[in-house]
Amino acid sequence: MEEADYQLEIKKLSRELRRLKKNNELLRIANDQASRTQAYIQKDINQQIFYINQLLKSSPYLLILTNRQMQTVMISNIYFRHEKEITKAQVQRGLPLHQVLRNYLSPEQSQELMDKCEQVLNGTDVPPYLIKTVIDGRNFDIQVIISPMEQQNEVSGLNLVFVNVTAMVEAIEHAQQADRAKSNFLANMSHEIRTPMNAIVGMSEFILRDCTDSKAKSYASMIRSSSKTLLSIINDILDFSKIESGKMEIINNHFKLTSVISDVHALIRIRINEKPIKFLMDIDHRIPDEQFGDEVRIKQILINLLGNAIKFTNNGSITLKIWTETVPEPNRMYRVYYSVTDTGIGIKKDQLERIFDNFTQVDTKRNRSVEGTGLGLAISKNLVNMMGGNLQVVSEYGRGTTFTFDILTKSRDMSPVGEMSMILSEGIFSQDVFKASFTLKNTRILIVDDNDLNLKVVSGILAPYKATVETATCGAEALIKCAKTRYDLIFMDHMMPVMDGVEAAGMIRKMPFGDVTPIVALTANALSGAAQEYRRLGFQDFLSKPVDPYEMDQVLRRTLPSEMMVPNPAADDTIGHPVNSSQNESDTTWTGPALSAASLAPSGGTGAPFSHLSCELSETDSAAGHEVSGLLVDTRVGLRYCMNNRDFYRKMLDTFVTLNPIDEIDRLFKAEDWINYQVKVHALKSSALTVGARVLSELARGIEQAVRVNDIGYALQHHQELCDVFRETRDLIKSGELEMS
Ligand code: ADP
Repeated sequence: MEEADYQLEIKKLSRELRRLKKNNELLRIANDQASRTQAYIQKDINQQIFYINQLLKSSPYLLILTNRQMQTVMISNIYFRHEKEITKAQVQRGLPLHQVLRNYLSPEQSQELMDKCEQVLNGTDVPPYLIKTVIDGRNFDIQVIISPMEQQNEVSGLNLVFVNVTAMVEAIEHAQQADRAKSNFLANMSHEIRTPMNAIVGMSEFILRDCTDSKAKSYASMIRSSSKTLLSIINDILDFSKIESGKMEIINNHFKLTSVISDVHALIRIRINEKPIKFLMDIDHRIPDEQFGDEVRIKQILINLLGNAIKFTNNGSITLKIWTETVPEPNRMYRVYYSVTDTGIGIKKDQLERIFDNFTQVDTKRNRSVEGTGLGLAISKNLVNMMGGNLQVVSEYGRGTTFTFDILTKSRDMSPVGEMSMILSEGIFSQDVFKASFTLKNTRILIVDDNDLNLKVVSGILAPYKATVETATCGAEALIKCAKTRYDLIFMDHMMPVMDGVEAAGMIRKMPFGDVTPIVALTANALSGAAQEYRRLGFQDFLSKPVDPYEMDQVLRRTLPSEMMVPNPAADDTIGHPVNSSQNESDTTWTGPALSAASLAPSGGTGAPFSHLSCELSETDSAAGHEVSGLLVDTRVGLRYCMNNRDFYRKMLDTFVTLNPIDEIDRLFKAEDWINYQVKVHALKSSALTVGARVLSELARGIEQAVRVNDIGYALQHHQELCDVFRETRDLIKSGELEMS
């Protein structure tokens, strides 16, 4: 071979060698890759096997997989806990099924199982069936489920499931028993705690009444308020445990819707008046007053929903709406819908579903200072369900919430509730000193009232208007004054001894100019529809007592000609439009066509259809009154009625103390002169509220209403308390220890 050829050959060979080397390298890489993939797959398989084993291990059932020869392929681990003689290895090698189950099945049962397995292998469906067996000397019912194991569309074996039905039923019963025991324990404990708690509340009340030491009294007041809160929590737990243990009963009876509304309002208004919120009622006037259902539970639900609305609303309004969608027929079931709408903080969308759960409070960061157990809604929902209805919620975070529930009911008497829609409370909405929005020129006003405090307050409220104001203390004096002077406006108290306001107004109307002078009724019993009623009686308008300066502003605007008014540039813009905008109609429309409204002052009298509180309810709502129960004089309320003018308020407090109506009230009580007693207690109700003496005013309200319906027993029971509270209130005012917020 030539040298050149030789060189060429060497080059070729080395190229070939390089190629082979490269291939070899590639092969090695591929090989590596394959081993890594295999290891990865193996790891994955091991992991899957581990998971399957875990599943089998924790399965409460005995699971057996067999091949077509009915030999075991796999058994759930639970089996080995009971069966010591058979090993896992034996099972994997394939034991005949009848041998695996030899300790549990009789020869007949074993035969039956084999037959059924045979059928399944041959494509027949075999329904699950029960066998009785004995394990460790105990009888058990076992359900057997046999199904084919299919691989590539062929039956390759069997899948057997053995369910110990007896053990499962026992487990469920055991869990239920534990739950019942817990509920019974809660019910018993709550009951046991209630008894001493009642004693604590009662005893602290005795201290408050009988003790003269002011420090001891303030401690007693704290004890009473805390124990009342505690009692309400215990009541919730008691109800909850009753529902849980199935002991809650719904007791249906005939009841009056009007009395439900008035009781509920009486219980919540103290709390509502603590805040600058309006309470509106929108009641479908066609609903029959008489209903059939569990009145106590309906009240409980409403109080809970309204209580929550107050808790979570800081301004705006709360509306209670009651309506029906069908025209009710006598003795036929129909649904009544109740809704409570607030303009409060609202509930986040993702929390809405949870609020009906037991012990659940949502948005706890924001609501840290709000007390509660998180049981109220759970209890309410259960109660509504028990009464054939449903409780639902719609809410917009930051804007407000509406809870709606419906109750199945029926009526025998179809007389409708009538016009009940009204504004029941307006809350304390401003702490600014009141400024009249205008002054009056050449205006002469007469105020007629037998109560000196009222005369002073109304005169004081009118003072910034710069009118000439005169007063008369009875109807006769008013007539004499009207005969001499022509007034541009007369404020006339309704309830006066000897000649009442209606009679006096009637006589003034017959005098020269009397038929053109506007007469505005002053009343502590303003009810829904009051505006029409007073118009019918010959009045132009009415003002509820205690007189709210902002309402006075409105009434003056409505009743006096605008030529007399000179706008007051110093006044706040809102004063002319405090809650309702100025309207020519004295019946103001508030929230839509169904709501014709007459306004009542905070805690103003509720009047005829409203009954005084039942003891049971005041206990249920024990948390409601606790904040004010220890507070004899709420200076915020007093200040509001006195235009937020501290000097004027101090003067009114002095007048209140000097007037001292209690001796006269006591004398009438002893003389059993119930007519005049009622008149005086009625006057005390509003004059006490004028200076913020809310406890006294509430007591007077209860007694007045009772006497009005001839419930003298109630007066006998509470008269002494009225006298005591009056004296305590008077002493407190006299002591000069009142703090003005
Ligand atoms: P609680 O006794 O704690 O008020 P509830 O079951 O009555 O318990 O209410 C549960 C929770 O639902 C409350 O803690 C509050 O977070 C929320 N909630 C209920 N009503 C309202 C409402 N009107 N506005 C905003 N949040 C509300």
